[in-house]
Amino acid sequence: MKFIDEYQDNRLARGLARRIAQHSTKTVRLMEFCGGHTHAILRYGIRQLVPRTVDLRSGPGCPVCVTASADLDKAIALAKLPGVIITTFGDMIRVPGSYSSLQKAKAEGADIRVVYSTLDAVEIAKANPGNSVIFIGIGFETTAPTIAASILRAQQDKIDNFYVVSLNKLTPPVMKALLDSGEVKLDGIVCPGHVSVIIGSHPYEFIPRDYGVACVVSGFEPLDILLCIDKLVEQIERSEPKVEIAYPRGVKPEGNKKARQLMEDVFEIGEANWRGIGIVPESGLKIRGKYEQFDADKAFSVRLKPPKEPKGCRCGDVIRGAATPLECQLFKKVCTPESPVGPCMVSSEGACAAYYQYGATEDLWGS
Ligand code: SF4
Repeated sequence: MKFIDEYQDNRLARGLARRIAQHSTKTVRLMEFCGGHTHAILRYGIRQLVPRTVDLRSGPGCPVCVTASADLDKAIALAKLPGVIITTFGDMIRVPGSYSSLQKAKAEGADIRVVYSTLDAVEIAKANPGNSVIFIGIGFETTAPTIAASILRAQQDKIDNFYVVSLNKLTPPVMKALLDSGEVKLDGIVCPGHVSVIIGSHPYEFIPRDYGVACVVSGFEPLDILLCIDKLVEQIERSEPKVEIAYPRGVKPEGNKKARQLMEDVFEIGEANWRGIGIVPESGLKIRGKYEQFDADKAFSVRLKPPKEPKGCRCGDVIRGAATPLECQLFKKVCTPESPVGPCMVSSEGACAAYYQYGATEDLWGS
């Protein structure tokens, strides 16, 4: 297939769904670790196509959603420092922190700017030499190389007023943390497409080996996801868990070496704080000592009150796959995209936003 609409072919999709139904004899729980997959599954009605034996759960795959309240509070506190310009990606602005949000801080006079690329943040620093420009870096392995590139650009252009708060997170360690917790029993993982473009498929090999859980890397079109589910069901039915790629046009087993080198040059691995999960060892990226002049954590100090979660919000459970958005009492009643209570309803990649936007119902998605 050469064109994207071929990956949306209705007839082929129904054929794949039939195939899955034919060989799916036992109930299996599959988790997707990418907000893009969650949205695609709801948008294309994948739940309606696959048999009821296949239980699809969202995991911690939305970068905004997994950002801990304490880290958001830090970003808001930094925004209130004199002479600081905060730059970040759009969804972060509306996410409620423990006591405020970047949007509220902006309304109160803080200089907060949405950027579409990390290099835009460097340009803002260049254009405002009298200010300290801080980029709030969130995301997984997909965005980390671009944040690394912004730091290298700032160094190359001798920009001394550009800083990064590195909240970047790594996917395989959080998969391990969820599997170790045993809270949600998983039979298979829909491995993230974009992340895998960078890291390849090798980093998932510990999952079938140590946990007996099937792993298939998926693309984002309906046929990609159905093919992924088909391969996962087949592995589980045969009791032969392994790592497969159902997205060969995007992902190579070895990933993108150049992007990884960029990441490894600028960042070192450290712990990270995940909303709903807590501190996960070796799941975050910290700026290396040789680039510490760009590290906002080294350059600025802010005092924070203890973090708290929005009352009644079950984002933490949704992120761990322990609940679906439909199990949150606030879903659709109090919490909507216009008036979001938690990050999973704010972010374009959030599970609650997807369930709301595509009208997920209890009969299909009830646990
Ligand atoms: Fe939180 Fe709203 Fe989702 Fe409930 S529906 S878990 S309040 S974001």
